[in-house]
Amino acid sequence: MRLVLVGPPGAGKGTQAEFIAGELGVPKISTGDIFRANVSGGTPLGLEAKRYMDAGDLVPDDVTNRMVADRLAAEDARDGFLLDGYPRNTEQAEVLDGLLEERGHVLDLALELVVGDDEIVRRLSGRRVSKSTGKVYHLEFDPPEDPDSPDLYQRSDDQPETIKNRLKVYAEQTEPIMGYYEERGKLVRIDAVGDVEDVTGRAMAAVRERTAK
Ligand code: ADP
Ligand code: ADP
Repeated sequence: MRLVLVGPPGAGKGTQAEFIAGELGVPKISTGDIFRANVSGGTPLGLEAKRYMDAGDLVPDDVTNRMVADRLAAEDARDGFLLDGYPRNTEQAEVLDGLLEERGHVLDLALELVVGDDEIVRRLSGRRVSKSTGKVYHLEFDPPEDPDSPDLYQRSDDQPETIKNRLKVYAEQTEPIMGYYEERGKLVRIDAVGDVEDVTGRAMAAVRERTAK
């Protein structure tokens, strides 16, 4: 199964990707996580990506596409993958289709998590991440044991001003890919508001329906 998970920042892509990839036995490939690991590691890729991430802008396509091409060439992604946070514009969607075509593969599904703007702001502003485990919490919806623990941090791009720009970038650059996937019969939209387990249930139902076809 080859699928991409799309949706606005804070829609719950990372949270759902973890469960769905586990259920399907495919690697979860999150471009945001790969960029953040490079930023913390101080690699040239991280240095390049950081200023765009801090502003809430997209990292340039040449950098991002190369990184994804490398990751998809790895052995564990040969028989399937779940991409979280990629593609984020039409050019990336075209590059992904090209990469798959070269290997005689096709994308099975683009799963869109639908969440309204108010809920997104609530999810992003309450998001906290564990430094030691990388686990993502929410102060209200999935509270950590100790909300004041020094192990928890707030992502620097989860500040109100950056959130505003990320939503703008999403509307202008990412939303058009829904049309791209719809035209190709790949798009399935699910309501991503509600308990995490209920959303996972809707996601898995959509995935199974697609596999049955
Ligand atoms: P994304 O990867 O799309 O940016 P995340 O998976 O990091 O989103 O989720 C954003 C925030 O919302 C996190 O704090 C997460 O704990 C919380 N969250 C995820 N799914 C839900 C849900 N169904 N209901 C409430 N909060 C959620
Ligand atoms: P979220 O889903 O919460 O917006 P991500 O962790 O997916 O966050 O992405 C964080 C940041 O990493 C983005 O704001 C952007 O700067 C960069 N990024 C991630 N994926 C891509 C991509 N496919 N293309 C360009 N930039 C990306």
